Amino acid sequence: MRFRWLTVFAALFSFLSVNSLPAQDLGSGFHKVKDGIYVYAPDQTTTTCSMVVTQEGVVMIDSCNNPLDSRKMLAAVKKVTDKPIRFLIDTETHNDHTWNHFLFSPPATIISHEGTGEAMKKDFDPKRAETLAARSPEMREAVQGYKMIAPHIEYKDKMTLNLGERTFELIYLKNVHSEADTAIWLPTERVLFAASAANVRRFINLRPSVVISDVLASYKLMKSLNPEVVVPGHGPPSTTKIFDEYEGFYTLLVQRVGDMAKQGKSLDEIKKELKMPTYADWHNQERLGLNIDVAYKSVKGN
Ligand SMILES: [Zn+2]
Repeated sequence: MRFRWLTVFAALFSFLSVNSLPAQDLGSGFHKVKDGIYVYAPDQTTTTCSMVVTQEGVVMIDSCNNPLDSRKMLAAVKKVTDKPIRFLIDTETHNDHTWNHFLFSPPATIISHEGTGEAMKKDFDPKRAETLAARSPEMREAVQGYKMIAPHIEYKDKMTLNLGERTFELIYLKNVHSEADTAIWLPTERVLFAASAANVRRFINLRPSVVISDVLASYKLMKSLNPEVVVPGHGPPSTTKIFDEYEGFYTLLVQRVGDMAKQGKSLDEIKKELKMPTYADWHNQERLGLNIDVAYKSVKGN
């Protein structure tokens, strides 16, 4: 009997100690946000991907920006646990989040919101493997074996995934970024994976389908969860302050575009004249025009 208890303690100890590996042991760009929860965010703007280790296996959030990053993530998972990757949850449909499913599945079962498989097929770029391969010999090697893998499970509105000791609540965010966006909330750990409704100090590539009032509603919803850590779809882990920053930005943008439209200015004139000097240090300034397009649509009520 004593021997069995020792085995249990030894197993528990190894589980805890491996889970608490410092992020620097996994390589540059890795952030540890809680025991067993690691985020790969190589810089301020690149797509993030994350692993959540449980006693029953790993849950991945997104499949990383490109196959080289995915392979770095796979190596990191191996350092942290010998358990398989059981699930991969997509926070959005775009290929910088979903193209690398093939590196995780099998064995991972892929879960996304309804519409993801269809959007992936619609956006499919037959040249992407070739384009990536041309970047470097390492990338050429890393794209080997590519095939498109659509989600195995598409949920609608809400879903709960229980694995080992952890609970993942999947929440659909309507019209905030892609055709199907998912926030993932870990209520016990108070960690929120927030998709790309907000990033970190950067102008987001707003598609025409984005509705600013829905984006603002998503911030309200996500803040009401009271998370301790917020992991955006791009950029390093942060807090709910990113929602406040983007709320300030979109509110001011809509107000300025609205004022100029009231003065009778056309969309083209607004795009030429409108500046946002307070946000001059945000990344991707070239996307201000796209942001104005979406704000203009919102002030015109469509
Ligand atoms: Zn995207």
